[in-house]
Amino acid sequence: MSAVCPFCSIASGKAQASIVYEDATVLVFMDLNPANFGHTLVVPREHWENIYEVPENVLADLFSVVKRVSSAAKKTVGAEGISILQLNGRAAGQTVTHFHIHIIPRFSGDAISKALGAMMEHHGLKNPEKSDLDEIAKKIRENL
Ligand SMILES: [Zn+2]
Repeated sequence: MSAVCPFCSIASGKAQASIVYEDATVLVFMDLNPANFGHTLVVPREHWENIYEVPENVLADLFSVVKRVSSAAKKTVGAEGISILQLNGRAAGQTVTHFHIHIIPRFSGDAISKALGAMMEHHGLKNPEKSDLDEIAKKIRENL
């Protein structure tokens, strides 16, 4: 546990949060700066900085809860869709260095659709060569 980590503070009960779900491994609470109505964060109780550190069995527990909370949040706020966002490292936009998964209810034409849509539709590398894709796939395979 990190003394200055806001999510560890919530997990230990030292900081307040609007808790949605908790068990021995996983904690879910409302994001304090929600991107949309019903935006929750799913975190492991234990402090791991990013996806490279979280054990696979804990990730499985986290994503089981992500599935359940996504369905419940969608139903609760009448969302048309759910965006699930998970960022690793400053370059990716991670600001709190305690692994977390955003569950963001979405509505057609909502305020974040432009930003998130731009990210998903950006496709900055246009029409890559199949041989280049094969080469990167081979290198990633070798690092698995
Ligand atoms: Zn922490």
